[in-house]
Amino acid sequence: MTHTLSRRTLLKGAPAAIVGTTSAALLSHTDTAQATAVADPAAHRDAYGDWSAVTYLSLPSQKQRAANEEAVRSSPYARHLDTNLSVPSASAQAIQFGPLDPREVPSPSAQNLNRLIDPSFKTSDNGYAVLDGQMAYAQSRIVMPGVTTEMFKWWFTWHPLEKERYMLWFPQAHIDTSVADPARLKDTTLSYEKRLFDNPNRIQEWIGPSRLDAIIHFAEPATLGFDARALAKQGFTASASAVCYATPAPDIPFTLMVHIARDTSAGMELLSRYWIGAHADMARFANAEKAPAMLQNIGFNEQVAEMTAYEMSVHDMTEFNHLARILPGIHRAFA
Ligand code: ZN
Repeated sequence: MTHTLSRRTLLKGAPAAIVGTTSAALLSHTDTAQATAVADPAAHRDAYGDWSAVTYLSLPSQKQRAANEEAVRSSPYARHLDTNLSVPSASAQAIQFGPLDPREVPSPSAQNLNRLIDPSFKTSDNGYAVLDGQMAYAQSRIVMPGVTTEMFKWWFTWHPLEKERYMLWFPQAHIDTSVADPARLKDTTLSYEKRLFDNPNRIQEWIGPSRLDAIIHFAEPATLGFDARALAKQGFTASASAVCYATPAPDIPFTLMVHIARDTSAGMELLSRYWIGAHADMARFANAEKAPAMLQNIGFNEQVAEMTAYEMSVHDMTEFNHLARILPGIHRAFA
């Protein structure tokens, strides 16, 4: 991968902006020649118009980046480490004017999961909100030129096996990853679903300034509430959706995470949704009734939920745009 000197200078020389927790400074630039480092630069760039370099990173993230650079440098993946982050300017701007219109915010019901894949359903590509005081919500839609659902599925069976692989995805935020049964995740005689689903994946990462230590239980979309036939009918052939648990409270579901993907003529389309916290519509997951007290104990109030929703939205936007750029090259080298 090549970068222009000016882009490197721009990023390295940019001071960390000192801003409040609910605003991220994203340095806009319209010099599209600088938005390089993508597998198919023209396609990825043209899909979204102007790009912005991500120049605001929480202090722990800046330190993480230094540690990760060191770790990846002595791994087989050194040449694939790209710490230049950029996002479509339109996506960055979409979340800089406060939360979504409350009428647009879905609760984590099965009905709303299925509404998401209804072709007549329209919503903002990027947004965040707080739901009923104790749940953070973030949503995104991204099209990744040059990426396929096959590559996406390969990524989810490959990266959790080594933390250096996970670091490539978001070098400033990803700390560690492991799975309960690495042999099963590696077993290429099994389907993607049999390798990843019900094979708990512990992750540690920075969501803005907060360290998240969680266990992701990837699962069949139908067990989360999706109508499997409707998903297939709408062309969604990959899912990395899950219920997540906090490592210190591994029996209490506190997040429903949706990543569903389909191949389109423009590239892979990924729909992502995060419901983080407690909500009555989580009742279909065992022990969800324990979540409100657990969250109250750790001080997860409306203010924290709002910050979490915004930071999750920034994290998702950053990591999936970065993955879109790096995945074709990593897949070519290691798949
Ligand atoms: Zn992440």
